[in-house]
Amino acid sequence: DIRSEATYTQEEQEIDRALRPISFGSFAGQDKAVGNLKIFVEAAKMRQDALDHVLLYGPPGLGKTTLSHIVAGELGVGIKITSGPVLDKPGDLAGLLTSLEPNDVLFIDEIHRLSPIVEEYLYSAMEDYRIDIMLDKGPSARSIQIDLNPFTLIGATTRSGLLTAPLRARFGINLHLEYYDIETLAGIIHRSASILQVPCETSAAVEIASRSRGTPRIANALLRRVRDFAQVKGNGRIDKAIACFALEALNIDRHGLDYIDNKLLGVIIDKFAGGPVGLTTIATALGEDPGTVEEVYEPYLIKEGFLKRTPRGREATDLAYSHLGRTPRVRAVG
Ligand code: ADP
Repeated sequence: DIRSEATYTQEEQEIDRALRPISFGSFAGQDKAVGNLKIFVEAAKMRQDALDHVLLYGPPGLGKTTLSHIVAGELGVGIKITSGPVLDKPGDLAGLLTSLEPNDVLFIDEIHRLSPIVEEYLYSAMEDYRIDIMLDKGPSARSIQIDLNPFTLIGATTRSGLLTAPLRARFGINLHLEYYDIETLAGIIHRSASILQVPCETSAAVEIASRSRGTPRIANALLRRVRDFAQVKGNGRIDKAIACFALEALNIDRHGLDYIDNKLLGVIIDKFAGGPVGLTTIATALGEDPGTVEEVYEPYLIKEGFLKRTPRGREATDLAYSHLGRTPRVRAVG
């Protein structure tokens, strides 16, 4: 799955780091979220306070981790990185929190996957910069209070719907990252190509961008693979012809839809006559949970006009039919 970082080799992850923008200036797109964030960062710096806690949400690969590094860099503070599933004991959280210098950033990826007990500890840390730790068990148990340095928690999630209300309420800043348009992605591809020192024509960058599912991580991954084709099959230069050749060879479809996208559309069309069909039914057919289908897979398909949300359920559009090579059904009128 090209979408998840976990499938990348160590070398690819190193390239990924090299391609990561390190300042607001080199972070393309997301004008609304970044515009707001810049103001909050500036204000916190002027007051010499910790930045308010930030919740970043949006599909994978859109720049949540990157933005968190940038925020820490622009604030001139340190950053510690962890994730919800890794942080499974309150002691681990306490260790991290007590290691933070004043105004540092703590980044928790997949924050919707924190265990309830760890989440509970986080509340007082976020609110009062303080944690209560239980020492011993049984009759000799007592709790001690530890004061923490002021810090900023940046939580990232693909599934904002899964955050508990008390946790959500403790974030002063809520930012939603959107899919990138083709022009912005083409710009990102250009920048990455120049860091990788491979010449890339504009038409080729646009071609790669249009198949990247609105996602910078995918754009960079496709660029690396097209680069391999350009080196082996061409003269090292990425032009439109070699880009198209490589993308065909890699089975990346014209709209950049991946396996699960096509499967989702196929299920609605083939099993449910194009819909309308309920979210839960689709999710069951895909073996996914409904929230992931709704928050991770559907938004791009809806944005690109393959899928419609109606009061009676999801419907595949004519574009979805033609994309999958099916004949659109004749719809009853009225
Ligand atoms: P997320 O945390 O949302 O899954 P990341 O921050 O890890 O996404 O971004 C994935 C990769 O995409 C990064 O390594 C970075 O190179 C690239 N990237 C993300 N957003 C941008 C952007 N706005 N401009 C340039 N590159 C970006």
